[in-house]
Amino acid sequence: MNKTDLKSLNREELEEFIISLGEKPFRGRQVYAWLHRRLASSFDEMTDISRGLKDTLENCCSLTLLRTETVQESKEDGTRKYLFALEDGNMVESVRMRYQHGISVCISSQAGCRMGCAFCASTLGGLMRNLTPAEMLDQIYRIQADTGERISHVVVMGTGEPLDNYENLVTFLRMLTDENGLHISQRNVTVSTCGIVPGIRRLAEEKLQITLALSLHASNQKKRESLMPIAKKYELSEVLEACKYYFLRTKRRMTYEYALIGGINDSKDDAKELGMLLKGQNCHVNLIPVNPIKEREYVQSHRDVIRNFQNLLEKYGINVTIRREMGRDIDGACGQLRKRYAER
Ligand code: SAH
Repeated sequence: MNKTDLKSLNREELEEFIISLGEKPFRGRQVYAWLHRRLASSFDEMTDISRGLKDTLENCCSLTLLRTETVQESKEDGTRKYLFALEDGNMVESVRMRYQHGISVCISSQAGCRMGCAFCASTLGGLMRNLTPAEMLDQIYRIQADTGERISHVVVMGTGEPLDNYENLVTFLRMLTDENGLHISQRNVTVSTCGIVPGIRRLAEEKLQITLALSLHASNQKKRESLMPIAKKYELSEVLEACKYYFLRTKRRMTYEYALIGGINDSKDDAKELGMLLKGQNCHVNLIPVNPIKEREYVQSHRDVIRNFQNLLEKYGINVTIRREMGRDIDGACGQLRKRYAER
């Protein structure tokens, strides 16, 4: 019999489940708090739960618990990269960054990725499987338990395409921001997508106040297609329409991510075309100096080129920031996270 994935149940589901075991509803609330607020790593820790209920839960449920394989810390900026093993031997990486505004964790949404972006290490080797809500939550829980510092921001920008794992993503987002769990503010959560149009439109209807970031990386269809296979399925114009719709429904300002790749998409013409494309939109462009991966030839744009690109874009009235490259020395920066296997 399949065991119930206890940590993936939202509060109502958990309460119903506990009631179905013949317990009172408040027991459900207690167990929820142990899992999602007190970040218990075993049933034994749940001191106000009876032995009988603990035994039942042990028998019929799985308690998703990621095993920390390695932790690397950047000497440059204190960024920490965690390699976690899932129960089936797959591995995922998560990154913790310290900013002035708080502590931010970047999580993975899939083991591997099938999107095939030309410049990204996470997609080499393809998709293994989707992560469950519990596996997404536990990346954050284990990091918070390890560091003892409250995580204030979460970005779903690690390995995987979050909108390719839609149902689990939305369950995860609701639980992460639930007042009975870690209660991270929805406004402090960002989901980054390569541009899956039906997913963007659906997310717009979820009544969530999260920020959506679109991986744009090119200012026209032809160039975008050459970098991102998904662009062949969802055309640039369609994707931008979906993003405008997201803004319309949620009033959350869109973020557009643009990885600057030397000689590929960093010319003055590229900047002007991008300016024209986004002009008039209430949005924010985040320029990411591309992080080289060894399997590909891509190089970073020169610092002056990046500055000029920013200046040109700003002439179109667009808000532009350059992403700080954190954790580069530990391969923890954008596009450097990789799929690995447990060696057992
Ligand atoms: N699948 C999602 C989220 C994961 S990637 C997406 O595509 O948005 C998070 C961001 O890092 C994306 O904008 C992605 O395009 C970018 N990225 C990938 N590889 C990169 C690299 N080598 N250098 C810089 N950014 C990269």
